Amino acid sequence: MKSFLACLNSGHLDIARKLFDKIPNPDLRTSTLLLSAYSKHGLPKQSIALYRKLCKEKNLHPDQYVIISVANACALSLDAHKAEELHEDAIRFNLASNQLVGNAIIDMFGKCGLIEKARSVFDHLPNKDVISWSSLISAHASCKQSGEALQAFSEMLCSGVKPNSVTLCTVLPVCAAASKAATFLKEIHGFSVRNGFKDDVWVGSRLIVFYAKALNLRLARFIFDGLLARDAVTWNVMLSSYFSVGNSEEALEIFRRMESGEAQLSCASWNCMISGFAQHGGVKQSLEMFARMQYSGFKANEISLTSVLPVCTNTGNRRGGKEIHGYMFRHCFMKNKRIMTALVLMYAKCGDLMKSRLVFERMTDRDVVAWTAMICANSMHGCGEDAVHLYRQMISLGMKPNSVTFIGVLSGCSHSHLVEEGKHLFNSMSCHYGIRPNPEHYSCMVDVLCRAGHLQDAYEFMQSMPMEPKPSAWGALLAACRVGKNVDLGKISAKKLFEIEPENPGNYVLLSNILMRAKLTDEASKIRKLMRDRGIKKAAGRSWIQIKNRVHSFVKGDDRMVCRDEIYYFLKGIEAKMKLLGYKPDTEFVVHDVDDKIMEEALCSHSERLAVAFGAMNLNGESEIRVFKNLRTCGDCHNAIKLMCKILGVSIIVRDNLRFHHFENGSCSCNDRW
Ligand code: ZN
Ligand code: ZN
Repeated sequence: MKSFLACLNSGHLDIARKLFDKIPNPDLRTSTLLLSAYSKHGLPKQSIALYRKLCKEKNLHPDQYVIISVANACALSLDAHKAEELHEDAIRFNLASNQLVGNAIIDMFGKCGLIEKARSVFDHLPNKDVISWSSLISAHASCKQSGEALQAFSEMLCSGVKPNSVTLCTVLPVCAAASKAATFLKEIHGFSVRNGFKDDVWVGSRLIVFYAKALNLRLARFIFDGLLARDAVTWNVMLSSYFSVGNSEEALEIFRRMESGEAQLSCASWNCMISGFAQHGGVKQSLEMFARMQYSGFKANEISLTSVLPVCTNTGNRRGGKEIHGYMFRHCFMKNKRIMTALVLMYAKCGDLMKSRLVFERMTDRDVVAWTAMICANSMHGCGEDAVHLYRQMISLGMKPNSVTFIGVLSGCSHSHLVEEGKHLFNSMSCHYGIRPNPEHYSCMVDVLCRAGHLQDAYEFMQSMPMEPKPSAWGALLAACRVGKNVDLGKISAKKLFEIEPENPGNYVLLSNILMRAKLTDEASKIRKLMRDRGIKKAAGRSWIQIKNRVHSFVKGDDRMVCRDEIYYFLKGIEAKMKLLGYKPDTEFVVHDVDDKIMEEALCSHSERLAVAFGAMNLNGESEIRVFKNLRTCGDCHNAIKLMCKILGVSIIVRDNLRFHHFENGSCSCNDRW
């Protein structure tokens, strides 16, 4: 018996069945265990077959548990014929009026599409509890009878049975889909006024959550407005519901009502606002909310800080992040692992690797997440050796790396061209740590090989993958083909990418550049035509820079940008000096079919260059310019910025979508391989 149970628990049903078949007269409990195990492991048909066999050969007298297990199996296999047979058995063995059996049979008939039978079983049940009603509603819903489902819900409320969360889960999607839902809700509303249902804050807030999830905020609001008593949770649910659909104005409106005294503001309400704005691009508002929370006398907690820090992280707002760091220091959060780890990432992603390292070193209690953050920080700044060194240190302390740790350290290997180290780490994942590499790890490994110029190896490695390579793997290969001037592999990877991510303009541009460079101009223009025909536009490059407390953003060709004329004047001036140092605009990175003069202008106005120029004009004694860009920086700008930092005598840090470039004294930390 013990081994039979062990087999059931571990899912070895074949062996369990062999043991079961050896029992001369299996009891009901043992039979039920095997019957339901079949359904649980996705084999409902086997469950039904075993039941029939037991009835025939062992003269089985089922009890309620056997019938319920098999009803479940019939429901899963959608077998209407077997369902009817089982119902007959239930009647024969006098179990049809049993509440639990009845509920299971209603559900079974509903799933098998026999709605009339479901209704009839329901009608004959002597007692109808909340599960009976819910099963009936769900039976109507699965037979696509939304009107009847809502009708049944009405009847249920009228009969005095209170819905539970299962009922609501079933009825609300139906409601949201049915066209009469609004009128119907008014009925429920009327009903609830008469029956005190309206005061049920619990049901009320559940309803709001469900409607908000069904993206029917109008109905959620309808219920919210109708509730006589609203607790703090209900208000907060309404707040986050508006944010979840990106309607921050309505959320703000609700928040103002709370502030004006209609409800008690809590730390959770403030956190709703901070994270709501944070997740929906309201960078400024999120930071403002964080500040206002403190003025209002609330103390930020872990949630507030872990919501607001990523705002600074993702926008490169180092100044804002530093202020939050100060707050953490003053309010004794320096021992909180999660927040400190967020701080490590904030400084790293804002381009300040030194500060990031400092925070990490001061952490007294570092877990694998903290180590992983530090490893990733080093990798994104191109410090692959340091990343690997940290990884080894972490291992020597007896910590077990996780899947993210490997992403971090492998990407470090790729940026620093540590091929052997990368291979070793990749193999150790499954050998030493039992982590099966996922497609992302494979992409990292492809990148390791590609950046080191081992293009053929990378391609063969991709062929050997146990799953389809992700676009990121093909993308790494394609980008490497441009650097390594490999037309054949470039065509292969681009062809694949055109299939799996046809909307990504970068792939067309890259292949066209590869072909142009190989002087295959006809083929290149074919690719650009393909791109035009498919209606794909090059993504607009956007760069931003923070000057004092303001973030200024730049897009090429934007005539309304701040100090437009001054910036172009500045760029013209510095370009003359750059040319003296041997700068030649590299027109390869412009795909338009235009003459050289216009092309030069087009290059000169790439967003990162505009932002660097604006930064240089607003140095105010600082010796660093930090610019952030949404796309990969182009080779020509990379060359230009190297010279600009030399001429200006400052260091320039550019974060593109892949990594950081630290430009200093005429060269870049990426050694021109990025
Ligand atoms: Zn550029
Ligand atoms: Zn670089």
